[in-house]
Amino acid sequence: MASTRKPLIIGAGPAGLTAALELAKRGVTPRIFEASAHVGGLARTPAEGDWRVDPGGHRFFTRSEEVSDLWRSLLPEDQWISVRRRSAMLVDGRYVRYPLVGRDLISQLGFRSGARGLTNFLWSRLRSRIRSTVEFPSFRDWGTEQFGRHWYEVFFDGYVRKTWLTDPETLASDWANQRIKPISWRAPTEEDPRAEDAFRYPKYGPGQLWEAAAEALEGFGVVPSLNSYVTSVRHVGRTWTIERQNGETASGDAVFSSMPLRLLIESLEPTPPKHIREIAASLKHRSVITVAVALKKHYDIPYNWVYTPGAEFRVGRIQNYRRWSSALAPEGWNGTYLGLEYYTLPSDDLWVVSNESLGDIVEQDLRTLGVDGSALDHCMFVRSQFAYPINDPAREQSVATIRDYLRRIHPSLHPMGRNGMHHYDNQDHAMLSALRSVAQYFGANVDPWQVNTDRDYLESGLIKG
Ligand SMILES: Cc1cc2nc3c(=O)[nH]c(=O)nc-3n(C[C@H](O)[C@H](O)[C@H](O)COP(=O)(O)OP(=O)(O)OC[C@H]3O[C@@H](n4cnc5c(N)ncnc54)[C@H](O)[C@@H]3O)c2cc1C
Repeated sequence: MASTRKPLIIGAGPAGLTAALELAKRGVTPRIFEASAHVGGLARTPAEGDWRVDPGGHRFFTRSEEVSDLWRSLLPEDQWISVRRRSAMLVDGRYVRYPLVGRDLISQLGFRSGARGLTNFLWSRLRSRIRSTVEFPSFRDWGTEQFGRHWYEVFFDGYVRKTWLTDPETLASDWANQRIKPISWRAPTEEDPRAEDAFRYPKYGPGQLWEAAAEALEGFGVVPSLNSYVTSVRHVGRTWTIERQNGETASGDAVFSSMPLRLLIESLEPTPPKHIREIAASLKHRSVITVAVALKKHYDIPYNWVYTPGAEFRVGRIQNYRRWSSALAPEGWNGTYLGLEYYTLPSDDLWVVSNESLGDIVEQDLRTLGVDGSALDHCMFVRSQFAYPINDPAREQSVATIRDYLRRIHPSLHPMGRNGMHHYDNQDHAMLSALRSVAQYFGANVDPWQVNTDRDYLESGLIKG
């Protein structure tokens, strides 16, 4: 018998598509409304001809079998490649391996820097032994404790200012344990890399997986409505009605929302109380502009990510695409394909600057990197507005207040995913929150908001994602 359930899904990113697949597998046909012209959300792969851009450098890593089984089921084995993760921080013109290796820190940046770093580091270790339980309110406190003042300042302070666009003193540190690996005093060798240093990657970038998910959904008769920006989300009796920008409406018995939590509260009817609207309005995002440049000349940069913490660079991180997958560039092409990431706020000038002006900044950064940016084969600009939910110290409390309000008043409204829950999640966590939300819809006693709250889910990721 056909199901009478009619859930509505906002967003066709990893969370929305995962929720849709799970619902479809359980015999329910959802409808999906996606604001943009593509599926995959932040994990899409924009392309021009044979040039593909991964806007984030999406490493596929998870501790969840449920997620890895789903990944495998969507893309055949020959469409996955295994990528050796090799990252470095470019400091004073020197590439220092990341995760940081003690031996490099002492030897690579000169004797004075090495000695000062080691002394500061040992002192911070000693202090943390004396103080048995320490809470780290700010990222600066956390970083100084983990790395010692000198190495914190050399590697993290400037980088975090550039990427999070805030003083590390005002940035909460709860995400740092997950994302930043401690110094290793035993370096992996070339012949014996650590198991976690390799990751899986769809041959044609992350969007390939999400396009495959959309194809799988088609098999269930579900086709996302693209260019369908949801402007209002109304709850009357037991019915939810969403309205799109073009005025069209759709109704159902539940809403799964991966749109930014702030915007969901803004578009919700009946209008939530003033204090909930005010808290929601305080939830902010950072944006990222990825500029992909294909240089004619081949430079041997043996890393897939290069972090650029110094003030001499405007760019925060550079991806070396051919170290991710050679299929991101046309077959047989032998130049250097880089993705420069610029972090900004939607209210900043950089966000609205023309491609031409941005091109000047890129050229300057390439010069500082020591490469010739004048001979290009291709260039693409990719803007991701809601790239990072900002993690200020008030975030946890603000999100909890909104969560409790929604749970009480609208139990059939399911916020999920990175921006849906305003939580610094990678794809796997966005997917898990979607799977838990669907389980909850079918009556299971699970809490999607608990996904990715484990302080020590060390994903060997770095300050990224
Ligand atoms: C720079 C960067 C690097 C990253 N690196 C990694 C990595 O290495 N590994 C990893 O696993 N993850 C990484 N991530 C994170 C990953 O991209 C996200 O976790 C994932 O995309 C979240 O999925 P989501 O569906 O929750 O949200 P999104 O991907 O944001 O998708 C939400 C969708 O909802 C749509 N939408 C929003 N508002 C509306 C509306 N009003 N109406 C209709 N549709 C709407 C959006 O257009 C979007 O398509 C990275 C992210 C960034 C920005």
